[in-house]
Amino acid sequence: MSEISELAAEAEKLDAADELAALRERFVLDDVVYLDGNSLGALPAGVPARVEDVVRRQWGELRIRSWEESGWWTAPERIGDRIAPLLGAAAGQIVVGDSTSVNVFKALVAAVRMAGEDDGAGRAHGVGRESGAGRGSGADRDEILVDATTFPTDGYIAESAARMTGCALRPVVPAEMPAALGDRTAAVLLNHVDYRTGRLHDLPALTAAAHQAGAYVVWDLCHSAGALPVGLDEHGVDLAVGCTYKYLNGGPGSPAFLYVRHGLQDRFDSPLPGWNSHAEPFGMRPAYAPASGAPRGRVGTPDILSLLALEAALDVWDGVSVEAVRAKSLALTDFFLRCVGEYVPDGRVESLTPAAHAERGSQVALRCDDAGDVMKRLIERGVVGDFRAPDVLRFGFTPLYVGFADVERAARVLGETLV
Ligand SMILES: *Cc1c(COP(=O)(O)O)cnc(C)c1O
Repeated sequence: MSEISELAAEAEKLDAADELAALRERFVLDDVVYLDGNSLGALPAGVPARVEDVVRRQWGELRIRSWEESGWWTAPERIGDRIAPLLGAAAGQIVVGDSTSVNVFKALVAAVRMAGEDDGAGRAHGVGRESGAGRGSGADRDEILVDATTFPTDGYIAESAARMTGCALRPVVPAEMPAALGDRTAAVLLNHVDYRTGRLHDLPALTAAAHQAGAYVVWDLCHSAGALPVGLDEHGVDLAVGCTYKYLNGGPGSPAFLYVRHGLQDRFDSPLPGWNSHAEPFGMRPAYAPASGAPRGRVGTPDILSLLALEAALDVWDGVSVEAVRAKSLALTDFFLRCVGEYVPDGRVESLTPAAHAERGSQVALRCDDAGDVMKRLIERGVVGDFRAPDVLRFGFTPLYVGFADVERAARVLGETLV
């Protein structure tokens, strides 16, 4: 048997043994190999009918009554609680709304404000006190550290947040973050998984290091939410944001989430205190008074159509554990790297994604000289990944609907394209 058919036969066996294989039926897919779920997740099969009902009945017939009767008003927190278990968070800490970019702004400015309030004993809630952190007053904390490899929007927003809060912004690669932390650090903004290389950063260790230094940490989970266990509560993460249209399949532009852990909610001072986050939104008072709990992270009127499409999309997670998804994700990326090794001529691509499981998200990034052109040809042949300038082929693996035969075919077509 040639090595090509050996890999195809192995893929068939792996698919037959895959306990998540049947989940693919929960999505609308065709015979395209879709490896771009890290950019826009595929359509869950239940979404169109739900959206139709929301539009025709809830909006068309019930009209304004739906704010109460269809649960529109409470959707941001209700859907936050649906996402919470996927991120290892207890209920009541996540609100859904706005874009990730906007939530980065809210979280980062709020983090700097908290640091500014802390007294000389360190973080007001105790974490980090043991290190002697916060030697000066909170007002001396005038630096924000930002992931130097971040998805650009986080960097742009952090720059503006720094300017507004009178902080200096220092870009640092995540591995060097612990050494860069100090008693001037107010807040740290990190990406959990590098959107370009697929590298997974050590959230528990980096969070602990930030706390040790008396700083607050904001994690961007765009490429880990729905792809791997995050353990927000377990690791004491302060604040986190992420989008819902990648591995959570919420649809184009579906609203993002904001996590503020319980212990910090009363201190969360939003830089965007809209009327939806007011303690009494319909009191229509001239003076702002913040709501307690997760609703404090809201701003204006929620984007109901997108929110409820996302809610329907989350049904695909019924009975699915994130641990099983993670195990399959690693098996898929391992198998892809192996198939690429077999099928692609030596030296044509180089993996930018770490080989170690502990450092790998749910994607594989291959450096390739003519990547833009290669990706175009792959897409023409029914293998959809994406191209990230200047020279990266990016393949995202959503374990809910990608199988091993897909992986084998993608690598085979890539090999044929690069001959
Ligand atoms: C996809 C992504 C975003 C997207 O932000 P939007 O405001 O939703 O456009 C932000 N940050 C990271 C790390 C991302 O991967």
